Formats: sequence, C-alpha cells, structure tokens
Amino acid sequence: MHTKLIDGKEIARKKRKELEKRVIQLKGMGIYPRLAVILVGDDSASMTYVRNKQKACEEIGIESDVYHYEAETDEETILQKVEQLNQNPSVHGILVQLPLPKHIDSKKVILAIDPNKDVDGFHPINIGKRVLGERSLVPCTPLGIMVMLEEAGVSIRGKHAVIVGRSNIVGKPIGQLLLDNDATVTFCHSKTENLRKYTLQADILIVAVGKPRFIRAEDVKEGAVVFDVGINRDENGKLCGDVDTVDVLPKVSQITPVPGGVGPMTITMLLANTIQAATMNVDEFSD
Ligand code: NDP
Repeated sequence: MHTKLIDGKEIARKKRKELEKRVIQLKGMGIYPRLAVILVGDDSASMTYVRNKQKACEEIGIESDVYHYEAETDEETILQKVEQLNQNPSVHGILVQLPLPKHIDSKKVILAIDPNKDVDGFHPINIGKRVLGERSLVPCTPLGIMVMLEEAGVSIRGKHAVIVGRSNIVGKPIGQLLLDNDATVTFCHSKTENLRKYTLQADILIVAVGKPRFIRAEDVKEGAVVFDVGINRDENGKLCGDVDTVDVLPKVSQITPVPGGVGPMTITMLLANTIQAATMNVDEFSD
C-alpha cells in the first residue's frame, strides 16, 4: 500500500485486537459487555449496517441483540423498548439505527436513551458534556478520526484544522475534538464563500460533505493531512470519497482512502464505546 495512505483497515484490526483483550479482562471481572440495537423497517442499507455491527461485536466477544420492528411500528412501542433497555443492567449500550420511519420522531427517541448507554454519542447530554470537555460518549466517526490521527503520528497542537461539513454526527464533533486537542479550527459549509481560501490553509483537512471527489489538488495545501469521510457512488457506480484521492496524492503528506479509511474505524469505535459504557462505573477503567 502507498505509504501516504492511512490504512484504516489495519488500524481498525489493531484496535479490535486490543478491545478483544479488554472484553476478556472484563468478563473475568463478571462484566459481559452487551449492545442492544433497535432497527425499525426494512431499509436495506440500515439492515446491512446493523448486520455489520452485530458481526463486529461477535468477533470480539461483545454480546449483541437486535430488536427488529416493522416499519409501521408506532413511536410509543419504540420508546417503551428504549425505556426497558435503559432499565436492564445487563445492557450497556443502546443504539437506534437511523434513519427512523418518518412517523417516529428520532430526536425524541434519542432523548429517551440513558446518556450512559448512548454509544452513538448523539444524546444532548453527551453533546453538552463534550462541549464542556467532560468525559462523555463521543460519536463513532469523529472518535475514529482522532484515533487514526494518533496512529498516523499526526501532531494536532497549534495546527490549523479545516472541517468541510458541519453535520451533528461528523463535522461539528470532530471540530470540537480537534479544538480540545489544541488545533485552531475552521468550520466550512455550503454557505462558505470562497471555500478554497480556507481549505488551502489546512494542515489537517477533514472533508465530510457527501459529494463525489469534491476536493481536488488545487484545494489542498502542500503537505496537508487529509481525512476523507465521504462515502459516495460516482457516475459509474464506483465507491468513492469526497476527495479526489488520485489527484491530491502527490500534494498531501497523508490521506485516508475510500474505501478502507475512515469507514472501518467507525464500527470499531462503536465497540470501544460499548466497552466504555460497560466500564463507566469500574474504577480501573475510568480516566
Ligand atoms: P450531511 O449531509 O449531514 O452534511 C453535509 C455537510 O456538507 C453539510 O454541513 C453541508 O453544509 C456541507 N456541504 C454540502 N455541500 C457543500 C459545499 N458545496 N461546500 C461546502 N460544504 C458543503 O452529511 P454527513 O456529515 O452525515 O456525511 C457526510 C459524508 O460522510 C457522506 O458521504 C456520508 O455518507 C459520509 N459518512 C461516512 C461515515 C463513515 O463512517 N465513513 C459516517 C458518516 C457519514 P450545510 O450545513 O450548509 O448544508
């Protein structure tokens, strides 16, 4: 593999080995990490994601249960299930696969999850704690990026990190985490005027836009480290990121490929969060 490529698969493999060891250790202490996944409807992408999450849990010894409801299921039934899982001490993580059918208010469902079991890190309590710099459950994709930065030996302090995209699940939290790690952070979005002016200043460029090969060589600074979060299909149906990897490669110092970059780390961080949730009250594991 090209040395400039940050190998997300390899980092994920290494992290999963570490997590697997931690699960064994926990089981020795009588703690059996368990994730509950709520899936509503038959959206094929959601079903694939859930299957992958379940498989990843299984591989490292985390127990997982999937509660699969028909698309017509009413909001109350889902809220009741969440409450039941909140009360169940053997369940450490609760994940509601999004998107939910339109008649169910996903904000209300997320709000119903016990913040200590919110392994997606979407609950407002966790978002608030994160902003305050307190220990919290952090969304998986940004958490994965932080681990990859560390594994790739990228120093963050004092660097200019430019984030393109300001979603609640990627853009905003990764910006916050980088800020907490002493980067100077700029957020860009669809209303940003002269986007290139900012991307050209980025020592660390994070792109989470959802547009195939949106960022090209003329948009990046020489020697930049680029994280390509996008998962898109191009006009030929080929999987690609938000960055034109081939075009930018000669210019960047490191870049995450698509596939095999940020993607594999996301599920790995779900496993890490489930273990964190399971050990929330175990002193040995607290920060
Ligand atoms: P959203 O659609 O929620 O957000 C996209 C962001 O991009 C918005 O903030 C939008 O701005 C901004 N944007 C859109 N067009 C432009 C433009 N022309 N210039 C600058 N900014 C623009 O997407 P997500 O954050 O959920 O996901 C982004 C991508 O990452 C998708 O391809 C998704 O599939 C992928 N993804 C990958 C994951 C992984 O595990 N690898 C996990 C999650 C997402 P505005 O706010 O103004 O509308």
